[in-house]
Amino acid sequence: MRNWAGNVSFAPARYCRPGTVDELRELVAGSERVRALGTGHSFNPIADTTGTLISTAGLPAVIEVDSAASVVEVSAGLRYGELAGQLHRQGFALHNLASLPHISVAGACATATHGSGDHNANLATAVAALELVTADGELRVLERTGDTAAEFSGSVVGLGALGIVTRLWLDIEPTYSVRQHVYNDLSHAQLIEHLDQILAGAYSTSLFTRWQPEPVYQMWRKRRVTASDDGDAEPVFFGATAAAVAQHPLPGMTGDNCTEQFGRIGPWHERLPHFRLEFIPSRGEELQSEYLVPRQLARQAVEAVAQIGDRVSPVLHVCELRSIAADELWMSPSYQRDSLGLHFTWLPDAAAVAPVLVELERRLAPMAARPHWAKLFCMDPAQLRGLYDRYADFEQLLALRDPDRKFANRFVERYLSAA
Ligand SMILES: Cc1cc2nc3c(=O)[nH]c(=O)nc-3n(C[C@H](O)[C@H](O)[C@H](O)COP(=O)(O)OP(=O)(O)OC[C@H]3O[C@@H](n4cnc5c(N)ncnc54)[C@H](O)[C@@H]3O)c2cc1C
Repeated sequence: MRNWAGNVSFAPARYCRPGTVDELRELVAGSERVRALGTGHSFNPIADTTGTLISTAGLPAVIEVDSAASVVEVSAGLRYGELAGQLHRQGFALHNLASLPHISVAGACATATHGSGDHNANLATAVAALELVTADGELRVLERTGDTAAEFSGSVVGLGALGIVTRLWLDIEPTYSVRQHVYNDLSHAQLIEHLDQILAGAYSTSLFTRWQPEPVYQMWRKRRVTASDDGDAEPVFFGATAAAVAQHPLPGMTGDNCTEQFGRIGPWHERLPHFRLEFIPSRGEELQSEYLVPRQLARQAVEAVAQIGDRVSPVLHVCELRSIAADELWMSPSYQRDSLGLHFTWLPDAAAVAPVLVELERRLAPMAARPHWAKLFCMDPAQLRGLYDRYADFEQLLALRDPDRKFANRFVERYLSAA
């Protein structure tokens, strides 16, 4: 059994797909080691266990809108692609989506998965409440406000280490439409000089580059349609020109696999991800890493990577830059920092990528770069711990809620000392 990318082999003693929450509770209570698996899109062993690996995809699918409270109750194993269409048909939307709709809601939130946008915090920030099965098999509900608020802030980006989430309640808003335009050939000089205006120029902006022979960026601009919007996008934006044919972020791939471009109006969930649910997202044969740096150090970070473009580029499919708004979730890489995410889609060659990761982390260390929990990184645990103000609080929460280390695995053991 492997993850989506095929670079991690899961080695559980058994794999289960319970059909009811009671069945799930019994499995957790009766297992010495246990872990939840979402859709397996993470690139490191964060979802692995030597004990019982449990998929929540078999639990009854629930999408229950409470329009008065502006929340949707959703079962943990559902994929965003399944949730989003239903929400839209009922007149509602989420604030943002990741580059792909294929991932499970619980798995994405557990790792602080994000999209882009200066005012868009990660997907986990939409969680208003969650229900999880704790180590003793009991059900526990945590809410953003009230008595459980502190534990909630520590548990939403829970890295799968605090229990198995069965249901989440997500903030929703009235549905909206988005236009997407792709531009080519944004120069490095323009990017560095106008980074803030470029990122602020759309609801969600992504910038793709291969760094070599010189950094040139492809720009994906996703604009929310407003009453005063006449639909026209600038044919030239900071020197970059609007693409005449459908683009794919990866060189040489067809734009047909991607969400609609050329400013055609469409619902939020068919424009905010780059990739369409019915196709393999991204390249398929790849590895990924990502580092989030404070927004005020964004230029410095981009320059630091550009300086080692000759090391990065030979093992790279493409790099993506995105902005992520700050949040209050303890283990979120954008905890209390507006951030720039520097994402790397690597060739599927872990041995060749490894030394480049070491160099990349060395270059980004002065910017206190926090790695994406679900992607490849090689940072020393002590260094990682120093990047998070609430790390010790999270470890205390682990010790309280999982004293027998039931949800621990090789990833948790390496990075969380209390486990
Ligand atoms: C092609 C591709 C594109 C990507 N694009 C983006 C992107 O745009 N932005 C971004 O931030 N990330 C991106 N990612 C990373 C992805 O969002 C994360 O790997 C995310 O965790 C995937 O969700 P999953 O359901 O596959 O989780 P899994 O990989 O299955 O699990 C991840 C973690 O969540 C835990 N978990 C899963 N279900 C539960 C549950 N019910 N209860 C408790 N814990 C649970 C697991 O134990 C594990 O620790 C991308 C990945 C791929 C392959």
